Amino acid sequence: MTNMTNTTDETYEQSLDNIYANLPKQAHGTGERFEIPKFELFAEGNKTFLKNFQVVCDKIRRDKTLLMKYLSKELAVPTDLQGERLILQRKINADIVNKKLEDFVTRYVVCKECKKPDTHIQELGHGIKQLICEACGARNSIRG
Ligand SMILES: [Zn+2]
Repeated sequence: MTNMTNTTDETYEQSLDNIYANLPKQAHGTGERFEIPKFELFAEGNKTFLKNFQVVCDKIRRDKTLLMKYLSKELAVPTDLQGERLILQRKINADIVNKKLEDFVTRYVVCKECKKPDTHIQELGHGIKQLICEACGARNSIRG
């Protein structure tokens, strides 16, 4: 499945080692900056396969149905879960899909106050949802 040659792999790993070796140690330990994950995807026929859909959901700790519905609505495309993958029933550019993922994370994952991803969603009924931050305790209502 992989397109990388061994040579590329080795060089990549070596350069990563160098980068880490040269990084200054963070003063406050873990997760200073949350990095939004990216979908690994490929198109086949008229479909787009998000290979790491489950992995992304695990990373941002959000329900896969929520993200699936969001993408389906935002990209106006039917979707289909297939194991760990999500299939979009149309060919869609990777940049567009990943931009939607960024929007999703900004809206449904990252705390508006402290910018940390340590949050969960609470349903208040009547379609009202709040994003509750476990780091700073902020509550923000989620629209839509
Ligand atoms: Zn917070």
